[in-house]
Amino acid sequence: METASKDLIIEKTANSKIAQVDFDNLPFGKVYSDHMLVCEYKNGAWQTPKIQPFGPLSLDPTAKVFHYGQSIFEGMKAYKDENGKVFLFRPEENYKRFNISSERLAMPAVPEEVFMNGLNELLKLDSDWIPTTPGSSMYIRPFGFASGSGLHASPADEYTFAIVLAPSGSYFAGKVKVKIEERYSRSANGGVGFAKAGGNYAGQFYPTQLAVDEGYQQVIWTDDTSHEYIEEAGAMNVFVRINDTLLTCPTSDRILDGITRKSILDIAKAEGIATEVRKISVKEIIEAAENGSLKEMFGAGTAAVVSPINAFGFRGTDYDLPELNDSYANRLKKRMTDIQYNKSEDPFGWRV
Ligand code: PMP
Repeated sequence: METASKDLIIEKTANSKIAQVDFDNLPFGKVYSDHMLVCEYKNGAWQTPKIQPFGPLSLDPTAKVFHYGQSIFEGMKAYKDENGKVFLFRPEENYKRFNISSERLAMPAVPEEVFMNGLNELLKLDSDWIPTTPGSSMYIRPFGFASGSGLHASPADEYTFAIVLAPSGSYFAGKVKVKIEERYSRSANGGVGFAKAGGNYAGQFYPTQLAVDEGYQQVIWTDDTSHEYIEEAGAMNVFVRINDTLLTCPTSDRILDGITRKSILDIAKAEGIATEVRKISVKEIIEAAENGSLKEMFGAGTAAVVSPINAFGFRGTDYDLPELNDSYANRLKKRMTDIQYNKSEDPFGWRV
């Protein structure tokens, strides 16, 4: 069935796949809902967005995304509470960041109406796909890329914006042992590290694979000039607890301004936890590990919310971080997910 308004065309699938999905055993980001949103940019303007059955997109072999990597994305989640009400968490922050990324990649900004209205209508249409088993959620992947063709190394003249939905189980990373990386860099001053550009992730895979071969799961990146200060890890910002103070490094050209990071900082402050946003040197972390003042390290990001790090390696030596009973990671994760799943008050006004 096709319904159209001036703002959105909806073509519903004739073959829902929902009956084939085991909602009690969902992987993360591998099962997709029935529909997707697609909006094309042509002749200098965004066209009418369309919700259509989830399926392959057809592209010219010379689409510039394949050659020059004009590709960006976002990661967000929708949560269903016990009464079946659906919530987003700070979605305007994802929208803003999407266009910060598009500007840096010389791509046209996506209008708020296309992004937000498209997302809301897509979620309404596929709301039965939003899982309710504890810890699960609808992972939302808005993305944009250069669909315009040509082998000249210059920005494309056509782009595609799309959103796909992946009902996902909890992102349990298990025990995370990270390697503090000194040889490779994720990003550089003046570069694209602050953007959610596909290429940032492509560039991380090889060094991460080397770390995996050495027995680690993730890399903690250090700054590209001195390699003396920690920055972020994989798809997460990093927090360090020394004694009772929670530290994280400032965002910059090189670091993604994570929505989980800033939410964790606000929740920690409201909880009366001392926080500091400042550069954190590897030397300081090693000294704190050796004198016992390093209590915790964890990653923070939309997928896992908070992911405790239970060991880190530096120059071939591994340092363990034993599990704490009163960990900040667990406390902050609980506060945050209670807000996300409408299980508590939302003093910050983050639920939408
Ligand atoms: N850093 C990087 C490189 C990421 O990809 C992500 C995931 N978006 C994060 C940090 C965490 O950001 P957020 O909390 O907004 O998901």
